[in-house]
Amino acid sequence: MAFSTLVVAAGSGARAGDGDPKQWRRLGGKPVLRWSVETLLAAGSAPVVVIIAPGAEARAAAALGGLQGWRAVPGGATRAESVRAGLAALDASPDDIVLIHDAARPLLPPDVIDRLLAAIEGGADGALPVLPVADTIKRGTDGVSTATVDRSDLWRAQTPQAFRAGRLAAAWANWPAGQTPTDDAAVVEHDGGRVALIPGDARLMKLTYPEDFQMAEAFLQRQTRVGSGFDVHRWGPGSSVWLCGVEIPHDQTLIGHSDADAGLHALTDAILGALGDGDIGDHFPPSDPQWKGAASDRFLMHAADLVKARGGEIVHVDVTLICEQPKVKPHRQAMRERLADLLSLPLDAVSVKATTTETLGFTGRGEGLAAQAVATIELPR
Ligand code: MG
Repeated sequence: MAFSTLVVAAGSGARAGDGDPKQWRRLGGKPVLRWSVETLLAAGSAPVVVIIAPGAEARAAAALGGLQGWRAVPGGATRAESVRAGLAALDASPDDIVLIHDAARPLLPPDVIDRLLAAIEGGADGALPVLPVADTIKRGTDGVSTATVDRSDLWRAQTPQAFRAGRLAAAWANWPAGQTPTDDAAVVEHDGGRVALIPGDARLMKLTYPEDFQMAEAFLQRQTRVGSGFDVHRWGPGSSVWLCGVEIPHDQTLIGHSDADAGLHALTDAILGALGDGDIGDHFPPSDPQWKGAASDRFLMHAADLVKARGGEIVHVDVTLICEQPKVKPHRQAMRERLADLLSLPLDAVSVKATTTETLGFTGRGEGLAAQAVATIELPR
């Protein structure tokens, strides 16, 4: 079914903390605005017109980069002016279905869109998703309850709201100048239209306060991924060795282009493996002189930042060092603490183990040290 959408993203609301308007903040690794625009485009909205504050064109382009089928239109001083500007920009025929959505509701289940379109096709002048009011509602003054409100006919209104373009434009033309409706359904109701209530969805919650972002994150579907890494470095002359970010006095050192911390290299590869994003050599080519003698915690932090940029988190790491010497056990706790610190993980999510190969093979003969690692991460689905 053909439809177009206005997404209102012109707000400057900073109640959700950190001062940046919430439509530009990130949720699960993506700008808030991008979540609903992706869903609407995938559901067939043609086009999606995003109403932005004047001057926010570059932010919209950055937030929606790579998506086809949207355009940005500057809004007005009030939500009413913004919606009017958006409707003018859409230039829809009177019978076309228009959805009006608030960018601060990023998690839009596609079946809500289906229910809205079905209600309009069924003859309603408008349709909006609603949720029942679960809590008992009180009236009160000066900290004292004065009445208990019958909530059997009360509903919590969500967006998107759906209308025939001609019906909505006529209703807006009859709306009293100077008054501010809190949503578009109110405009059509005021004009005598029949607005259908369809089942909403708890995930369609509005982001208003800082804690709302945490709740929305909890709604995101996540996938668990596991990556493995392996690394070997050769022993050579020296007086200390770096292992898992800790310098250990030893009568030899590991030879390599960087500080040769095989533990951190294996762990960095494990994280990159979980991301499906190549290996340490792709990100830090040994041919590049800037990595000569580099502390390997930079490599690990780079991989951890890539996880964060995808909206994910590292949940557990496990490193095994394979060597006869030095004895790892006296340093194991320091290594765990160092890794926990680097990755901002609790200590019980960081494991460092050591083993020998019973004097067999290159590690047993003391020619080199091997490390293997496993990393478990969670990414938005
Ligand atoms: Mg290495």
